[in-house]
Amino acid sequence: MHGLMMDRPLLISSFLEYASSIYGEQEIVSRTVEGGIHRYTYAQADNRVHRMAKALTALGVESGDRIATLAWNDHRHYELYFSVSGMGAVCHTLNPRLHPSQLTYIMNHASDRYLFVDPTFVKPLEAFYATLESLKGIIIMADAADMPDTTLPNVHCYETLIADNDADFAWPEFDERTASSLCYTSGTTGNPKGVLYSHRATVLHTMSVALPSVLHLSAHETVLPVVPMFHANAWGIPYAATMTGAKLVLPGAHLIGEPLYELLDGEGVTTTAGVPTVWLALLEYMRGNGKRLDGLQRVIIGGSAAPTSMIEAFQDEFGIEVRHGWGMTEMSPVGSINTLKPNLTGLAANERMAYQAKQGQPVYGVDMKIVDADGAELPHDGKTFGELKVRGPWICNGYFAMDESKAHAEEGWFNTDDVATLDSEGYMQIVDRTKDVIKSGGEWISSIELEDVALRHPDVAQAAVIGVAHPKWDERPLLLITPKPGTTPDMSDILAFFKGKVANWWTPDDVIVMESFPIGGTGKIQKGELREKFKDYKLPTA
Ligand code: AMP
Repeated sequence: MHGLMMDRPLLISSFLEYASSIYGEQEIVSRTVEGGIHRYTYAQADNRVHRMAKALTALGVESGDRIATLAWNDHRHYELYFSVSGMGAVCHTLNPRLHPSQLTYIMNHASDRYLFVDPTFVKPLEAFYATLESLKGIIIMADAADMPDTTLPNVHCYETLIADNDADFAWPEFDERTASSLCYTSGTTGNPKGVLYSHRATVLHTMSVALPSVLHLSAHETVLPVVPMFHANAWGIPYAATMTGAKLVLPGAHLIGEPLYELLDGEGVTTTAGVPTVWLALLEYMRGNGKRLDGLQRVIIGGSAAPTSMIEAFQDEFGIEVRHGWGMTEMSPVGSINTLKPNLTGLAANERMAYQAKQGQPVYGVDMKIVDADGAELPHDGKTFGELKVRGPWICNGYFAMDESKAHAEEGWFNTDDVATLDSEGYMQIVDRTKDVIKSGGEWISSIELEDVALRHPDVAQAAVIGVAHPKWDERPLLLITPKPGTTPDMSDILAFFKGKVANWWTPDDVIVMESFPIGGTGKIQKGELREKFKDYKLPTA
């Protein structure tokens, strides 16, 4: 027997419709590409989003068309999340930090029909425009006065399109399973793979991540996503802020140190989210300049493991709660968040930290299991580790225009390629990525755990541990570090620092100090590049 409830479709257009009618006066603040601050309200954004949907219709955009964006986190990019998806087209966010050849591959694979581009990317785009096979036109995200001179053909001006169209556009209603947006994963091997989100998945994901135990969003909060809008929907924050009427602050292209601090402080941000590299720079800036962020309540750290030292710095030095989260582009992207359960708050500080360092509890809607090499499920004892598999209504069921996906080999589950433990309290901990784990003498060593120890050393700013070939043990860990400003790390002191903190045989065989690490398009340390660089490195133990 079916229930007698209305079958209204879950559509992205409903978020901004709701925000503009209930929280119409709430602000969206963004740092523009030109450097200034732009302020307006959800009601004003809604009006412009309708105008753009009308303009796109006039340009011939149809349901299902892929409309690409090459843009930073600002109000125009925010608008496209709603105008493009709202009208039934697919908002395809591109990572501007990718090599032009990768952008060409991705845009041709997706058959992008139009491209929205920040003025800063116009020149680089000119160099590879000729390789793009499906583009009908380009919309430069500027007003008429700031339109750059360009050799690109079929160019439109964003603000002219808005000005030339009125807001008389009704959102169409369609099947909630319709595709809404597209994001390619930056796979380290093979070609990038397209993750095609749906309206239904996005709405359900948004409802879950807005909850108090996850992003803690409401109209009383101010949220700043440092995580780029071109990467996995900025962890869903543009949608979740809109659904809850939270004040939204978009940082533009300036994501590091002082400009980020100024926005967090000046706009009264209560929740912010990003990868560890961003927070490392913010902590350094605050310490170096005697600054604090007393209004900031919580920092969501994910994308790579949040080091214990970083969690402690935010909480103990600055009084800001850290919530460690984990997810993947394939998961819309939030899979877990670490909010301390009430029964654990009374633990001693070091026991509490052991929980807080984990990647957290699955958010409502995500099922997790860990399995061995034969696919048999492993116990939730916090020690046994295995391949982490997930399922849920916002986890991809296959890749865009790809017939085969090894990650979907087991019916109904997605293989994350991460190795994890699950414990009896429901916390998940990532041990490593399958390709990063160090295989030493038939046993596994977690590079994440070794990095966590190294990062507690006072002279270490960044740490990466990679496996290097060893004649006896197959692989042994090599520790790479960048020093904290003004320090000269002593190698033997660093290696001695591991004593008693990990099993003796886990201690890295060698340390190398580097000036900087290769950082990928989404702010993560590129271990693949480091492995390549040190593939012939001869360890002193070899
Ligand atoms: P992406 O799809 O580019 O966001 O990358 C997803 C991958 O990032 C995951 O499969 C993990 O390997 C890694 N990752 C994300 N969050 C964390 C975290 N908190 N700790 C460790 N690894 C993480």
